[in-house]
Amino acid sequence: MALKLEPGTRLVVATHNPGKARELAEILENRFPLVTAGELGLAEPDETETSFAGNALLKARAAAEASGLVALADDSGLSVAVLDGAPGIHSARWAGPARDFTLAMAKVEARIEEEEAGAGDLAAWFTCALAVAWPGGPAVVVEGRVDGTLTFPPRGDRGFGYDPIFVPEGGTQTFGEMDPAAKEAMSHRARAFAKLKAALL
Ligand code: IMP
Repeated sequence: MALKLEPGTRLVVATHNPGKARELAEILENRFPLVTAGELGLAEPDETETSFAGNALLKARAAAEASGLVALADDSGLSVAVLDGAPGIHSARWAGPARDFTLAMAKVEARIEEEEAGAGDLAAWFTCALAVAWPGGPAVVVEGRVDGTLTFPPRGDRGFGYDPIFVPEGGTQTFGEMDPAAKEAMSHRARAFAKLKAALL
């Protein structure tokens, strides 16, 4: 069965973050009336899976079952090659309860240093998984990825999270220094959304 989203389908976005919901609405060209899990008072499930795709699917399924609406969820993070993909699905947690990404970036640097004592492999990538789930029914999961190299100390204050230490492949500026539109054109999130649109619209 081809899974298609009819324009006008009401979607629940499995986030309690209104900014994220707005960004998703724009990416979906405002073709779908969106409500957030937070607005519906839905509980946030524990992210117990071991992959970005697994956690996105778990969040979408939980929101679809609890609301009876088609649900959209995402999960994303930074993976470092010499750290076997860490911080990965724990990217947000590395920043601690205060969401301190200066701390999280310093932790990444320290862990790489421990791991390889300056051998110089700074390969890393961002991943974004997006899942759409129908209540009681099927689901679609896609992933977008952007590869790059880490740089220390962090540079730029335009992005968020780990942006100041990530230089995308073929570039010289970090995501934190780049024009936000230029980042958005190549980001893991944009790539995941392109796949989702191709699959569903
Ligand atoms: P999530 O909101 O649970 O998916 O957490 C994703 C975490 O990964 C965020 O808190 C950021 O630390 C990190 N992350 C995801 N995407 C980006 C990005 O585009 N730039 C910088 N950090 C990101």
